[in-house]
Amino acid sequence: MPGTAPRTRFVLPVSGLEVRLRPPTGREDLLLAEADAPDAALALTLARRLGRVEGGAWGALPACDLDALVLRLRQMLIGDRVLADVTCRAPGCGSRIDISFSIISYLAYHRPYSVPLKRPGWSAAPAADAPGGVGPLPAAERR
Ligand SMILES: [Zn+2]
Repeated sequence: MPGTAPRTRFVLPVSGLEVRLRPPTGREDLLLAEADAPDAALALTLARRLGRVEGGAWGALPACDLDALVLRLRQMLIGDRVLADVTCRAPGCGSRIDISFSIISYLAYHRPYSVPLKRPGWSAAPAADAPGGVGPLPAAERR
């Protein structure tokens, strides 16, 4: 089982870039308090203010990396365990549903992985400038 200690330094799952998070100040607290609803623009603003990413700019990174940053920020400030208590919205149901998971485990489970680029009937090759530092294929796999 992966460690559950909050980390202020971590690697983004898709781009592979390293991030250093700093704790929010009252300015970021106000941003969150004044937001109508969570959205990508708010997440991007928080990322730019709190996350220093080495070798990249937040606006150019995949949305999945922004999601990971928001989860890591939540983990750093509140803790690794996410607990939610919701009510089923199906007509006539109203059952109570408890949700509980670890952020570290969630990110590990959803970590991107590579699949073979050759399948019967088609082929693909990574771009040299693909996110995550996917470089050229070894010579034996090139066509
Ligand atoms: Zn239900």
